[in-house]
Amino acid sequence: MKARCVECGAAASLAAKPMRYACHCGGLLEVVHDFGDADAERLKDLFHRRLGERHTIGASGVWRYKELIAPELPDAFIVTRNEGNTGIYGPECVREFAGIRQLWLKAQSENPSGSFKDNGMTAAVSHGASLGYASFACTSTGNTSSSLSMYAATAGVPSLVLVPDEGISLNKVLQTLAYGAQVAAFPGTYDDGIRWLNENGEKNGCYVCNSVNPMRIEGQKSIVFELAQDLNWELPDWIVLPGGALSNASALGKGLRELFALGFIARLPRVAVVQAEGAGPFHRMVDASLSTLIPEPAPRTVASALNIGNPPSWRKALETLKLTAGVTTAVSDAEIMAAKACVDRSGIGCEPASAAAVAGLRKLVQGGVIHRDETAACILTGSLLKDTNAINSYHLGADYSEAPWRNGIRRVKLNEEFQVNLEE
Ligand SMILES: *Cc1c(COP(=O)(O)O)cnc(C)c1O
Repeated sequence: MKARCVECGAAASLAAKPMRYACHCGGLLEVVHDFGDADAERLKDLFHRRLGERHTIGASGVWRYKELIAPELPDAFIVTRNEGNTGIYGPECVREFAGIRQLWLKAQSENPSGSFKDNGMTAAVSHGASLGYASFACTSTGNTSSSLSMYAATAGVPSLVLVPDEGISLNKVLQTLAYGAQVAAFPGTYDDGIRWLNENGEKNGCYVCNSVNPMRIEGQKSIVFELAQDLNWELPDWIVLPGGALSNASALGKGLRELFALGFIARLPRVAVVQAEGAGPFHRMVDASLSTLIPEPAPRTVASALNIGNPPSWRKALETLKLTAGVTTAVSDAEIMAAKACVDRSGIGCEPASAAAVAGLRKLVQGGVIHRDETAACILTGSLLKDTNAINSYHLGADYSEAPWRNGIRRVKLNEEFQVNLEE
């Protein structure tokens, strides 16, 4: 596996230990493929035939596209849970809420650990295994750790997860514990955790699976591959996704660039990255046309997965915007929760961070940036069940313990006076 630095362009190899996550200059690495004379039509056929596979790596919605993700990786090292294979839906109520002609929701929430992190994590853990690592680590606001601990458990190897001691969702930490990871909480932010692992992960024998790991980006490309394949290789006018550490925005851009260069798609969609107002350094940078990102020292949003003040992948995400004439926006916590209620009500559901995409789409349509006659796909990054506190405070009121049946649930007596009335 070859890589290059996205800042200075220097070449690097990812083919042997020790794993490299960054260039000597400090820039992030990105995988470089030699697709040679890859034939898009032949590969489309192959990817299509694999849709019928059940017990091979082709049954995974990531490894189905192995030729575009990690062609050199020996199959024997692949650690998979048949991730991907997620649905695309077009619920009328959410389309109406967004105010656009046609809307797709790509439900990465349907992944085995409940978030899109599985798309990247299967690639990272498999690559780490192929290099001979026997333990894995990450720092995370939640979903990365759930995903890593799930794949480590699948492979039967230990994992270490560092979690900031506030601003995270309890459900995700519980999921991580249940999969058997060693969890260590520290006072500080996600950014402090990244710094520690960068300096100390290798020393401790760990393959580090944070979003800066270039293999995670390779795996996450499969989200747009699958979306494109499901839509018969014609993508909508816009793809809208939430931005935290910006790995997903980076992967989306790289995936699109490769699909376009190889001739899988004839036209590039535009990309909109949506941040939370309380954690929106990337949006502020783009909005003010600054040339560098100014970290947000105290990020705060109800969307815990977006609670990141210093997104490491901002340069790659900026490339995505350049490639696709992309835009950014930021939405308030109230806008996020209103969009979440709508997505939940549609029967699909998502966690707050995912709803930011829908809230952002609505805002961009209302602001005239996206025309109501255009078409869009929102990436729903994580499952409804990931953050039950958010559901609790929205539907039952903040002090649930004191007034258990406040808003969402009415009290009834099961006697002859109780009548079913579902029209209300
Ligand atoms: C990680 C995550 C995000 C943010 O993705 P980045 O790649 O960090 O920008 C958004 N939503 C959910 C549910 C996530 O788990």
